[in-house]
Amino acid sequence: MFKRLQTKLTVLYAGLFALALSLVAVSVYLTIANNAQQQVRGELAATGTVFDSVWALRTQRLRDGADLLSRDFGFRAAVATRDAPTVDSAVTNLRQRMGLELAFMVGIDGDVVGVDPAKIDIGKLWSALDHEDGAQGVFVVDGAPYQLISAPVMSPNLTGWIVFGARLDDREMTALEQLAAIRLDAQVFDRRGETWVTTDKTADAKALGALVATATAAGKAVSAPTRLRTAAGDNLVLVKRLKTLDGQTPAALVLRYPMALAMAPYQPLMAAVFIAVLAGAALVVAASWALSRDIARPIAALEDAARRLRRGEAVHVDVRSSDEIGHLSDSFNLMAAEIREREVRITELALRDAETGLPNHLAMEREIEARMARLAPGEQVVVGALGLDRFTVLRSAIGYALFNQLVAEIGARIQVIDPEAVVGRLTTSTLCVISRLTALTDEIVPHIEKALVDLAAPVRLGGELVDVHMTNGLAAAEAGTIDAPRLIEQAMIALDQARACGRKVSIFDAAAYGDPASNLSLMSEMLQGVATGALFLHHQPKLDLRSGAITGLEALVRWAHPTRGLLRPDLFVGMAEETGHIRALTDCVIDRAILDQRALREVGHDLTISINISGRLIDDAEFADRAIEKIAAAGARFCFEITETAVIGNPDVALGVLAKLNAAGIPVSIDDYGSGLSSLAYLKQINAEELKIDKAFVLSLENDAKDALLVKSTIDLAHSLGLKVTAEGVESRQALAMLQMMGCDLAQGYHIARPMALDKLVVFLGDWQISNPLPVGEGGARRAAVGG
Ligand code: C2E
Ligand code: CA
Ligand code: CA
Repeated sequence: MFKRLQTKLTVLYAGLFALALSLVAVSVYLTIANNAQQQVRGELAATGTVFDSVWALRTQRLRDGADLLSRDFGFRAAVATRDAPTVDSAVTNLRQRMGLELAFMVGIDGDVVGVDPAKIDIGKLWSALDHEDGAQGVFVVDGAPYQLISAPVMSPNLTGWIVFGARLDDREMTALEQLAAIRLDAQVFDRRGETWVTTDKTADAKALGALVATATAAGKAVSAPTRLRTAAGDNLVLVKRLKTLDGQTPAALVLRYPMALAMAPYQPLMAAVFIAVLAGAALVVAASWALSRDIARPIAALEDAARRLRRGEAVHVDVRSSDEIGHLSDSFNLMAAEIREREVRITELALRDAETGLPNHLAMEREIEARMARLAPGEQVVVGALGLDRFTVLRSAIGYALFNQLVAEIGARIQVIDPEAVVGRLTTSTLCVISRLTALTDEIVPHIEKALVDLAAPVRLGGELVDVHMTNGLAAAEAGTIDAPRLIEQAMIALDQARACGRKVSIFDAAAYGDPASNLSLMSEMLQGVATGALFLHHQPKLDLRSGAITGLEALVRWAHPTRGLLRPDLFVGMAEETGHIRALTDCVIDRAILDQRALREVGHDLTISINISGRLIDDAEFADRAIEKIAAAGARFCFEITETAVIGNPDVALGVLAKLNAAGIPVSIDDYGSGLSSLAYLKQINAEELKIDKAFVLSLENDAKDALLVKSTIDLAHSLGLKVTAEGVESRQALAMLQMMGCDLAQGYHIARPMALDKLVVFLGDWQISNPLPVGEGGARRAAVGG
C-alpha cells in the first residue's frame, strides 16, 4: 500500500500510538461519564426522598386545615342545615387563609360546594372519600393533578367531607427542583386511559410518558434511574409512584436530569484530554517520521548504491552509525570494493594476453578508439600489424614457451624503438603497433623497413640465438571513418598483402583487396571462369644469364572477370586456397599450360613452363598423381614452383609428393626464397632443382649492400647444394648486371619482359631469337648488360 518504507513506518508508529491514546481517552471519558452518572443517580434518589418529606409536610398542613374546619361548629351547623352560601364562604375563607388552590365540600349525597362540579369526576371522588376516612392522594381536577386531602364532617353523623387540594403544577415542581442539589426537572404524570400525561410543557413528554408506563408497570414504588435518549439529549430519569386518591388512576413523579449537565463540569477536563491526545498524536507523527527517516534514509542510500553497483559504477555508502544498518553499510562497502577490485582484475585479464603479458586484441581496439576520440581534424590513427614469418615452423622448432618469450621480446624491442607506441598481441604470430604517427604516407615505408631490420636482430632464447623475420602491414584511418576492429583488420590484410607480393612493409591497398562482400561471390564466379575459359595464362620469360637465351617461362594465371576486368592472382588465388578451390584452379592452369606449350612448340619454341603450386596442394597426393599423369600423357615439360613455407608446413606428406614429382621427372623450384625462415637442411631434403630468390631482395639489390650480400651468399650456397638460382623481380639493368656478376643462373623481371599473353609472347620470343645470343629488346642497354 505504501511504497516508501518511511511512510510505512510513520503510519505504523503513529497509528499504534493514536490507538493507545484513543484507548486512554475513551477510558477517561467512560470513567468520567460513569462517575457523573453515579452522582446523578444519588442526587435523584435524594431528591425523591426530599419530595417524600415535602409531600408529608404538605399532607400534614392540608390535614390540619381540613380538621380545623371539619371540627368548626358553625361550619358543621351550616353543613347540617345545608346552608350552601355559609358553607361556601367558610370553605373559601379557609382556602384563602391557607393559600390553597382548591377547597370544597362534598356532601354524602354527592353535592359539591366550593367548586364547579363539572370539573370533577364526582362519582370517583365520592367513592374514594367514602372508602377511606381522611383519604389523601393525587386526583385530577379540571385536567390537572392535585394533591387532595379530605376530612369527614360529623354533625354529629357524617354529613360530608371537606376536601383541600394543592396543585402539583409547574410552580410546585419548580419549588421542588430548587430544593435539589442539582438542576433537575420534576414533573407529575398521571394516567388518562392508556397514556401518561403531564401538564408540564416538555418537548419529550411522549417519550417520558412511555418510560413512566414501563417503570410503573414493573410495580416498584421507585424505579432505578434509567437512561433515556430523546431528541433533546441524554437523560437519567427516576420514576416515583405517587399515592392516588381513588387508588385507581395512577400518578407518578418523574425526576429527570440531562446527562449533558452532568458532564458539563468535566468538559474542560475532556477538552484537555482531547487536546493532549491530538498534540501527542501530532508529536508521534513527527517523531516517527523523523525516526523512520533515520532508518529509511540509509536503506534508501544502500538501495541506490546497489543499483549503481549493478550499472558498474564505483560506490561507497556513507552511513556513520554503529547499529545494524551501520554494519550492513560497512559490509556493503566492503563487498562493493571487492567486486570493484575483482572487476578491475577481470578487466585487466580480459585486456591482457596471458602468454606475453602484452595488451590483447580487445585492449588494442580500445586504445584505437581512445586515440580516435582525441584526433584533431585531418589526423589519422596509424596501426601496424607486425607478423612473424613462418611462425609454425619457428614455434615447433623452439617450443611454445620460448616462442611466447620471443614475441614478448619483440614487443619490448618495438617499445625501445618507439617508446610512445602501444604494442599488443593480435594473434599468436602477429603484434599490433599503434604508433605516435598521425598520418600514413609512402615516405614512412623505408623508415619502417629500416626499423624492421633492427627488430629482426637475432634473439637470444634459452642460450641460443634465434633468427626472426617480420613483415609489417600498415593501415590508418581518420576519426569517424571506420571503427577500431575494422582498422586492425585492414592492418592484418595489409600484412597479408605484403606477404603476397613479397614485401617487408605494405600499406593497406583497398583497391587490391576489393570489396569483401563481392569477394565472397568471387569464388563461384571463378569456378564458372574455369569452365568458360575466362581464366587464362600470361607467361613471363626466364633469361639464361650465361647463354642469353630465354629458356623458360613462368605461367601466371589471369582472370578476365566479366564486370571487374582483368584480375590479378593476388585477389583470387589466396581466396581459392582458403575456400578449397585451389585444386580446380591449378588443374585449369595445368591444362592451359599444356595447350600453350603445345602451341609454342608448334611455332618453334620449346620452353619449360614453371607452374605455381600452392602450398595447400603440395601434400595432396591425389592431385599430384593426376597432374603427373596428365603431364606425362601430354608429353609436357613443366617445373613446379612451390614456396618453401608450404613444404616445411606439412613435411611428411609433402616430401612424399615431392619424391613422386622427382621420380616423374618434374623438377621442383623453391619460390620466394628468403621471404620466410629458411632452413637449408630442408632444401636438401626437398631435392629441388632450382631456387628462386624472392623479388624483395632483388628489387633492393642496387641500393642495399646488405641485400646484395645476402643474394650473393644465397647464390653461392645454392650452388654448393647443386641448385640452379633464378632471381625474380629484376627491374633494372644494374640489377641484371650485378646478378650476372654474382653468378646467378637465370633472371626474371620487368626489365627482361613482363608476363604476357601467348600471341605477344610468340612475337617477343621471335624477336629475342633473332638477336640471340646477344638479345635486342627495348634497347641496347639490356643487351649490353646480359652480354657484358
Ligand atoms: P610469384 O610466383 O612470385 O610470381 C611472380 C610475381 O611477380 C608475378 O605477379 C609477376 O607479375 C611479378 N613480377 C615479375 N617480374 C617482376 C618485376 O620485375 N618486378 C615486380 N615488382 N614484380 C614482378 P603476379 O602475376 O601478380 O602473381 C602474383 C602471385 O600469384 C605469384 O607470385 C604467385 O604466387 C601467385 N600465382 C600466380 N599465378 C598462379 C597460379 O597459376 N597458381 C598459383 N597457385 N599461384 C599463382
Ligand atoms: Ca612463382
Ligand atoms: Ca616468386
